[in-house]
Amino acid sequence: MRINQATDVLLAVDVQKTFMPGGGLAVAEGDGVVAPINALLAGTFLHAVATQDWHPRDHLSFAANHPGKQPYDTIAMPYGEQTLWPVHAVTGTEEAALHPGLRQERFELVIRKGFHAAIDSYSTFFENDRATPTGLDGYLRARGFGRLFIAGIATDFCVAWSAEDGLRLGYEVFVIADACRGIGIPTRAGRTTIDDARDRLAAGGARFITSFDLQA
Ligand SMILES: [Zn+2]
Repeated sequence: MRINQATDVLLAVDVQKTFMPGGGLAVAEGDGVVAPINALLAGTFLHAVATQDWHPRDHLSFAANHPGKQPYDTIAMPYGEQTLWPVHAVTGTEEAALHPGLRQERFELVIRKGFHAAIDSYSTFFENDRATPTGLDGYLRARGFGRLFIAGIATDFCVAWSAEDGLRLGYEVFVIADACRGIGIPTRAGRTTIDDARDRLAAGGARFITSFDLQA
């Protein structure tokens, strides 16, 4: 498919060492997104933005801040159900920085999310109440972008929620599958949060493509 550089933008979600092997919330092969995203930044997309998960140490998405709870337990928060995570992406730490191997000089905007202690933010558009904006929608509209090409981590959480909100806001949404990695929490027999997210996104109108499709 052809990129239209006037309307298309690459959104690189949470490409941070905290989500890679050795990090606080290590995603299997999380570091595998760096090379394909760099290739997309090198020759495919003129315009690109990135997001960065960015939590204070007392963030309520951390299991460690709920006595008796374990990572991947869920709790009820005022805005709905919240999965509890290992401590990750703590503001100012080295592992919360964007991956040093990423071609960061290409990002025209880096948007941080999850900095309010009492609410998580999976989506790049809204915090987890799905109402408090991060400002990305205003930025993209002001720049005239209408098609979002999403890559990064994690397929089943921050990528999926960003894609869903993008669809809800009227963007055309493409998920670049080979440039994403997911967590994959088991949900029911033989299925994980990755399978569920994929079905949900496909039903909502997102299209799954690969970097190869963009070379054509
Ligand atoms: Zn987080």
